[in-house]
Amino acid sequence: MKVAKFGGSSLANAEQIKKTCDIILSDPRRRLIVVSAPGKFYDGDIKVTDMLIACVNAFLDGGDYEKVLRDIIRRFSVMADELKVEGVLEDIEKDIRGRLDPAMNPSKLMDSMKAAGEDNNARFVAAYLKSLGHDASYLSPREYGMTLSDQFGNAVVLDETYDNLSVLANIKGIGIFPGFFGFSKQGDIVTFPRGGSDITGAILAAAVKAEVYENFTDVDYVYSVSPKIVKNPKPVRYLSYREMRELSYSGFNVYQEEALAPVYRANVPINIRNVNNPSCEGSLILHDYEHTVHPVTGIASDDHFCCINIRKLLMNREIGYVRRILSVLEEEGVSFEHLPSGIDDITLIIKESALKEGQFDRIVEKIQNAVQTDELSVEKNLSLIVIVGEKLLNNIGIAARTTKAFADNKINIKMLSQGASEISMIFAVDTKDCGRAVAALYHEFFD
Ligand code: ASP
Repeated sequence: MKVAKFGGSSLANAEQIKKTCDIILSDPRRRLIVVSAPGKFYDGDIKVTDMLIACVNAFLDGGDYEKVLRDIIRRFSVMADELKVEGVLEDIEKDIRGRLDPAMNPSKLMDSMKAAGEDNNARFVAAYLKSLGHDASYLSPREYGMTLSDQFGNAVVLDETYDNLSVLANIKGIGIFPGFFGFSKQGDIVTFPRGGSDITGAILAAAVKAEVYENFTDVDYVYSVSPKIVKNPKPVRYLSYREMRELSYSGFNVYQEEALAPVYRANVPINIRNVNNPSCEGSLILHDYEHTVHPVTGIASDDHFCCINIRKLLMNREIGYVRRILSVLEEEGVSFEHLPSGIDDITLIIKESALKEGQFDRIVEKIQNAVQTDELSVEKNLSLIVIVGEKLLNNIGIAARTTKAFADNKINIKMLSQGASEISMIFAVDTKDCGRAVAALYHEFFD
């Protein structure tokens, strides 16, 4: 059995849904299908999930939510007209309206509405396949036991879910499972982080021990660098889970970063494929794949980081010093991304999106109260660049080649760090230099 997940751009309109269903029907092993909500097909298009979020915000703030609601219903009604799917539209409207309950706690209401995109799209795709005469059915996450933690908008799967869902290995016909959400033990709808349908697909693939988890999106391959920075970059045909994890975390948007763990543990390969070009074999993510050509598999980058540099003479002799700094972050509920250190200095690198307004300054002040420093400075507008490759481990001279590429292009490296796994090297640079730096590294390792 193959588990196939189709993302928002694969289901954005009637034409895309047709393509998706042709792909499903072209291989009888594709029997468990995970769908996203209708997404974006062209620039300026809006994802149904974003419309649902806007609708809840308007509903809670006393705005014109009815208008947004009508736009959402229209997305489904245009698809129903074009695909001649009858008898679903009233139910979809009733379902979405029913979720707007003023008595509900706002976080619960938000998650319930966010889930409406996937839930109704799964019903819609199942109805369309049925209308074509195929044996297809909607699979209910509540009924099959997609049980998640009760962290609204940020849920994680609970272990028992894998057992619950394993019965789907024996499913008759084609099952359409909505992505992105599940239910807490208390019975509330809870969603994964954004892009979370990838996680649903990975959980299902692991639960039924699928031969492969196909993840259909709108690119032919995972590329060695973002095509937005380098034109026609080299495709990556094979990569390891660890490499994909590092690349997704650091800005590759092809695959949700939290969606690797379930398939990694179950050893199910992931095949990234293009819904608009199904004859392309795509990229395959495997347990242990050793690259033979390039020492570097991919180069990723991400913006919007800030850092706090702390210097204190004899820091290495002061027991508990770093703990006191980190307790400030804990108290503030903020996690750091990297923590490079020297004998007398340490840097906290934090994602700007993790901070609320005014929180950065408060953290700096609290650190100054918690520990004595000889010097404390902050930097903003930083980007992190990561080079990733299993072969980094045994390859001499990669750091030298990298720093030379930076030097030749007059780019100042603000921080350099290599994790214990040694499959990645991380560099912090000023955001204004980031594009140039990534291009320079690409030319160094791939041209
Ligand atoms: N529809 C959700 C989002 O836009 C989940 C997904 O598509 O994976 O984030």
